Amino acid sequence: METTLRSFWEFLINTVLKTIHWDEARCTGCLTCYEVCPVGCCLPDPATKKIRVPDKERCVVCGACVLQCPAGALTLT
Ligand code: SF4
Ligand code: SF4
Repeated sequence: METTLRSFWEFLINTVLKTIHWDEARCTGCLTCYEVCPVGCCLPDPATKKIRVPDKERCVVCGACVLQCPAGALTLT
């Protein structure tokens, strides 16, 4: 029971309570996040040669972009 509650709490923290944060100043526009995001949150912005602000409504908090971003511009907070 305790393990189940802990797992549920960790699930809540890692999904419902976390959100993607993008640091534009760090972003180099490599578009790795665009390639790895399974739901298309990180779209290229031709005007800035970076990405648009990630769509927080769409984000499923999988963490793929955070792990793959070479510039450390993406975090889950
Ligand atoms: S992976 Fe990181 S550096 Fe590359 S476009 Fe995305 S946010 Fe910018
Ligand atoms: S955490 Fe996952 S779903 Fe959210 S923006 Fe990054 S790759 Fe896309």
